[in-house]
Amino acid sequence: MDPEEFRRAGHAVVDWIADYWSTLDARPVTSQDPPGTVAAALPAGPPTDGEPVEAVLADLDTVIAPGLTHWQHPGFFGYFPANTSGPSVLGDLVSAGLGVQGMLWATGPACTELETRMLDWLAGLLGLPERFHSSGRGGGVIQDSASSATLVATLAALHRASGGRWRDVGVDRRYRAYTSTQGHSSIEKAARIAGLGDDGVRPIEVDPETLALRPAALRAAIEADLAAGEVPTIVVATIGTTSTAAVDPLPEIGAICAEYGVWLHVDAAYAGAAAVCPELRWSHAGVEYADSYCFDPHKWLLTGFDCDAFWVADAAELVEALTVLPEYLRNAATESGAVIDYRDWQVPLGRRFRALKLWFVLRWYGVEGLRAHIRSGVALAAQLANRIRADDRFEMAAPHPFSLVCFRLRAGDEPSAALLARVNATGRVYLTHTRVGGRYTLRLAVGSPQTRAEHIDGAWELLRTTADSLLAEETP
Ligand code: PLP
Repeated sequence: MDPEEFRRAGHAVVDWIADYWSTLDARPVTSQDPPGTVAAALPAGPPTDGEPVEAVLADLDTVIAPGLTHWQHPGFFGYFPANTSGPSVLGDLVSAGLGVQGMLWATGPACTELETRMLDWLAGLLGLPERFHSSGRGGGVIQDSASSATLVATLAALHRASGGRWRDVGVDRRYRAYTSTQGHSSIEKAARIAGLGDDGVRPIEVDPETLALRPAALRAAIEADLAAGEVPTIVVATIGTTSTAAVDPLPEIGAICAEYGVWLHVDAAYAGAAAVCPELRWSHAGVEYADSYCFDPHKWLLTGFDCDAFWVADAAELVEALTVLPEYLRNAATESGAVIDYRDWQVPLGRRFRALKLWFVLRWYGVEGLRAHIRSGVALAAQLANRIRADDRFEMAAPHPFSLVCFRLRAGDEPSAALLARVNATGRVYLTHTRVGGRYTLRLAVGSPQTRAEHIDGAWELLRTTADSLLAEETP
């Protein structure tokens, strides 16, 4: 494909995406086809002779789009949002076109320096402590996901807790990680990969009302482990837990970590984006205690997957934990000590130019545009919560500090599960579920930039009328 052919085909692809976005509302949110439908429609092997891009676009319409879960759909309310946006896609397109590999400063000076600056911009935007800014000992880096951020934080914490021995001899003692019973599964996975074993993670109980970690229980667990000769290594606190968006009390947790010299990683994968709004920064009180912090612009900040923003307070500690320098990567810039080589801040060697999409997004929306997006999600969630509270067949299952609403039917688990299945089967909305206090709970997370008040009204109408028929069937 020469540049002129690329120009023509590229315009057609951009048109296809624009048409896709403008027709999302009319599509079912989830695929209506049984498993195997897409695979059955694909040929067993590649074509012998090349085909035009138009042929691929036609198959996108007929084969791929019907088999999609449409994450950008205004009726997509599942999991947490995974937003994208025009500027994000365009930034990613430029990144793909440049094809830069930014493993070292020397292999992509602009790739490295734009990333450092974008992470400083973001730190300022969220009001994160000065110690995360690159002007001091700290700094930020883009990871592919919050899961990778937690893994990298766990490795750095192990390095610190072992006094550097971990690099030479591996995991030679019982190192322990701590998180609340509501902590994300990636914490357990990180501990397993890091060699702590599944029982290396201590699940700490939560307050039954707020579902946030109980500091007294954390202290008790750390003291019990110390008494048993084990090594408290890392605490992962969460701002916005996956089930209910609960916020762990960072000021108390941070003080305990400081007292016992335990690494504090803050996982704000979803709710970190809320801190762009000053009125939501209460959720980040105590973040100054953190040794590391991450959030996913790819969840709720209009930046397409993959983009996790991860900061450490002491970059040298992280680099010391992860660096390996073979001869073939040696270069004058690295040896000068004056540049950042982001390969030392992550697990893989290679890395894409992901800062471009952040740059496009931050410049297109500006601070106020991003705040408007977050405020809209919070307001729409509140709109739904008011409806739920006003209908006494329903109950709220947890507070809704951000854009996630957790609720259920008072009639119990079975009717609540049936309600979820029926509303999802319509294809007009997509919600997911969790368990809160052992009880089946529906989760509705707002986040698509296309979701407006009428979509929330429509979702509530669907929930309400489906509950009408469901509960009528249950009454003999
Ligand atoms: N942490 C929390 C609190 C999450 O809710 C999630 C995903 O929803 C993750 C971590 C994992 O995010 P990622 O997909 O970026 O690894």
